Amino acid sequence: MAETVANISTVDFDKIRKDFPVLDQQVNGRPLVYLDNGASSQMPVQVADRIDHYHRREHSNVHRGIHTLSQKATDAFEETRKKVRDFIGAGSENEIIYTTGTTDSINLVANSFGKLYFKEGDQIILTEMEHHANIVPWQMIAEQTGAEIKVIPVDDNGDLDMKAYKSLLSEKTKMVAVVHVSNALGTVNPVKEITDLAHNSGAAVLVDGAQAVPHQPVDVQEIGCDFYAFSAHKMCGPTGFGILYGKKEYLDAMPPYRGGGDMIDKVSFEETTYNVAPFKFEAGTPPIAAGIGLGAAIDYLENIGMDVIAEKEAELVNYAVEELQKIDGLRMIGTPRTRASVASFVFDEIHASDMGTILDKRGIAVRTGHHCAQPILRRFNVPATTRASLSFYNTKEDIDRLVDGINYVKSFFE
Ligand SMILES: *Cc1c(COP(=O)(O)O)cnc(C)c1O
Repeated sequence: MAETVANISTVDFDKIRKDFPVLDQQVNGRPLVYLDNGASSQMPVQVADRIDHYHRREHSNVHRGIHTLSQKATDAFEETRKKVRDFIGAGSENEIIYTTGTTDSINLVANSFGKLYFKEGDQIILTEMEHHANIVPWQMIAEQTGAEIKVIPVDDNGDLDMKAYKSLLSEKTKMVAVVHVSNALGTVNPVKEITDLAHNSGAAVLVDGAQAVPHQPVDVQEIGCDFYAFSAHKMCGPTGFGILYGKKEYLDAMPPYRGGGDMIDKVSFEETTYNVAPFKFEAGTPPIAAGIGLGAAIDYLENIGMDVIAEKEAELVNYAVEELQKIDGLRMIGTPRTRASVASFVFDEIHASDMGTILDKRGIAVRTGHHCAQPILRRFNVPATTRASLSFYNTKEDIDRLVDGINYVKSFFE
């Protein structure tokens, strides 16, 4: 990641917002306020146009074609691998595996790494604030291998109990899988410190970066983690595509996760040998258009600058938390030391689904429910929260509209 000096006062965010035509529409008779970026962010025209161009002018299958169109498609698709490498500071594009998203990336590691390394009595450490995508694959492989899962608790603010983490680590620990930024609380976890401690115990580390990569500069070599997973559709790209970064030494050792075309070296009925990483993990025709779209999304984000995006979103989320906390009866779920782009809250008297439904009637899109993170909501003794999740194209007016909307909902319950 290039060193640049962020100076957001010189960045024209009104112009940037115009790159997102979806934001410029009426929903239920009012201008849309989109605050569900944690579930899926919106796509700028630059990315949509690039995908459209592929479909109109370049569509062809990748890797096996000798003809010009196939080579064009392959070049564009493989270019994304280099862009991702530079975007997250990986050592080589061979450490970048194409997947269909964060969920797929984590399932790949749980299955391939887990089958190779986990045995009876080994331990996998997770945190109480994980997304289901970073819980269930580990439970499934634990059941198959006899490994067991240990959980780092979270304090009342939504920060990890690092002392408890240290006491969980032992020579039995084989994997520490932790979310970089919590989608339910907004907590930014100290992933470098977590990684250093795990490595001192001889354990590998997977970081779920689905909510981090879209919002701040990420450098996997600086973190030092062994695996890092994220999704294109949360970072201005299309659905159906994601990334798994893995250190070469592990990727070389790990067996394939799925079999099929593209992942082989030689196939016969007697014996099949496999392609090298990353291709041995990429069986079958990939989502080519989506992969090219991710490349365009990275260009778009880098053109603004991830440090600029982080600073802008910090300003917005701080404003949101400040304004939300002024509302009588509103309780924030998660008041972490460092927060990124997410504000979750509850009211004792108002169910989150009523809140979400009435806000939608006023054109305001928020997410309500358990946010695929039931354990952490149980930790806070709430069945559901209302979550506003921000992106750099949101405005203070969006937040003011949200606050007005909440006060309107409250008026029904008084
Ligand atoms: C969205 C999300 C996931 C799952 O991503 P998919 O794109 O649905 O695979 C995993 N972890 C976190 C923290 C998320 O926010």
